[in-house]
Amino acid sequence: MPLPVSDTAVNLPPIHQRALLLLTAFSVILILWPNPPGTSVQPTAELMPKVLNESLYQSRAETYTNHLPQHLRNSTSTEAKPQIQDDSKHHYDIKPGDTLSRIFSSQGFSQQQMHQVMAADQSLLALDVLRPGHRLTFQLDENQQLQSMELFIHAGHRVLYQRENNGEFSYQEQLNAGEWHSKTFAGTVHGSFYVSAKNAGLSDGDIATIHQLFRDRVNFSREIHAGDRFQVIRSDNYVGAETTSQSRIEGVRIFNRHHQLDAFLHANGQFYNANGESLERAFMRVPLSRKFHITDDFNPRRLHPVTGRVRPHNGTDFAAPIGTPVLAAAAGTVIRVEHHPYAGRYIEIQHHGQYKTRYLHLHKTLIRPGQRVERGQRIALSGATGRVTGAHFHYELHINNRPVNPLTAKIPLAEPIPAEDRDAFLERVTFMTKQMDDETLLTQRY
Ligand SMILES: [Zn+2]
Repeated sequence: MPLPVSDTAVNLPPIHQRALLLLTAFSVILILWPNPPGTSVQPTAELMPKVLNESLYQSRAETYTNHLPQHLRNSTSTEAKPQIQDDSKHHYDIKPGDTLSRIFSSQGFSQQQMHQVMAADQSLLALDVLRPGHRLTFQLDENQQLQSMELFIHAGHRVLYQRENNGEFSYQEQLNAGEWHSKTFAGTVHGSFYVSAKNAGLSDGDIATIHQLFRDRVNFSREIHAGDRFQVIRSDNYVGAETTSQSRIEGVRIFNRHHQLDAFLHANGQFYNANGESLERAFMRVPLSRKFHITDDFNPRRLHPVTGRVRPHNGTDFAAPIGTPVLAAAAGTVIRVEHHPYAGRYIEIQHHGQYKTRYLHLHKTLIRPGQRVERGQRIALSGATGRVTGAHFHYELHINNRPVNPLTAKIPLAEPIPAEDRDAFLERVTFMTKQMDDETLLTQRY
């Protein structure tokens, strides 16, 4: 798969045009390079965390496509082509400040219908964070009743909510892992590291990741000086030529007058230095200060007691009384503090390396969205908000956007690279450092 080259490439400065040309040539070489059957041509593909390669993804996507009604199948990919006018279907592009309630009202749907869809979304919570760029597609039946609704999040992620015979809604999620394309960003520090990294083309999110990777090893404001050099490999995710806006840092080197800092992402989603020592901090297995017994286990196949259909339980429930302190499972950034009719007051935290945690049914939250939290920091008091039968604390751990059993999942434990991975990791480090050096030479020839 060649690098997606947009038509804006012609407006880039000559140096970038040259870089693009070389990257494209590099991709072509990779494609033409003889490789054994079954392996990927992408140098970064092997870094794809394991869960993404599981056939589960494939089968999910296929299931979704098979269930998708014909009229919805091309709903997002045929913008340019003339379409047969279908009055029973309409799109709604999310605008800043939109709420699901307001959208449903404006589209002429009842709040009851919205609650039915939200009940289906209880275990996914995909409709809780609507952002510009997301799109809803409504399909009506002959009685002008809502038949289905598709949420388009990005090219690799859609959710279809569909009315069942009994009037309740069910959901189908389509995930497409896409392709990752890597690129080197390099520069020399003038002024602050932040400004220099921005000038090199890195985003605020990238810089925050780099800060967090080395925060125990260097003080960026005091110890990084003018003249220090840095190299960063970032991979961006594409489905076809469309970006999914997902990206990840795969390698970082900072050359300081005193020492060299480095970090490389391994296939297990964790960062290590070039010697294979972990840069991660451990996760808490249960983010509570005391032990409580488990009242409901993680169970992706749990059946609804009344309808008998699958209503996954994506977390673990603990019998914590109202007011029990809830702690951050690991260092990270708070990305949601929300109130949901079923999940209640809840928090979501983004951690390093594709890990996210969710804390549901809270009585009181003690942090704000965007805030940085430390491992073990008190973030909320547990409660009984939302649709619950009694006070309890519901905890979720997500890896690569998939909920996993928080009690048994492999979590970063700040251990060095596993012995059996060591050779492959060191080989990968050599490959990435060479890529960094080669592309740095290219981009710094001005
Ligand atoms: Zn629960």
